[in-house]
Amino acid sequence: MTMTRQCMSCGHHGMVRDEDHQEHLRFNGESVVLTGLTGWFCPVCGDGELDPESSVRFATVQDDLIHRARARQREEIRRIRKKLRLTQSEAAKLTGGGRNAFSRYERGEVSPMPAVLHLLHLLDRHPELLQEIERG
Ligand SMILES: [Zn+2]
Repeated sequence: MTMTRQCMSCGHHGMVRDEDHQEHLRFNGESVVLTGLTGWFCPVCGDGELDPESSVRFATVQDDLIHRARARQREEIRRIRKKLRLTQSEAAKLTGGGRNAFSRYERGEVSPMPAVLHLLHLLDRHPELLQEIERG
């Protein structure tokens, strides 16, 4: 008896068994390559179903990746703020988001809006522009 597995994503009959599957995980500039995952994979759409053990391993590594990326972001925000010699409340005045926004970013309670990160990265490279904002 041959058993074909159906892909839950595209409906294709004929998922392929892989005992050494590789996944490249990326998140905000952090990346990790996971090897030796086992499961069934669809040759048509590329989607897959990991075995429970691999699924747990995948989730654990992914969580860790996200934690590392967030920790790096928190440190980066603090480093740039200090480089610009701003207090947390001065920095919050500059970028909006409320009086406590920066202490919340730096504690990792919330992630800043992309516009805030872009502004910080610009000011990191061109700190002299801060005077122009303050003058405006
Ligand atoms: Zn498929």
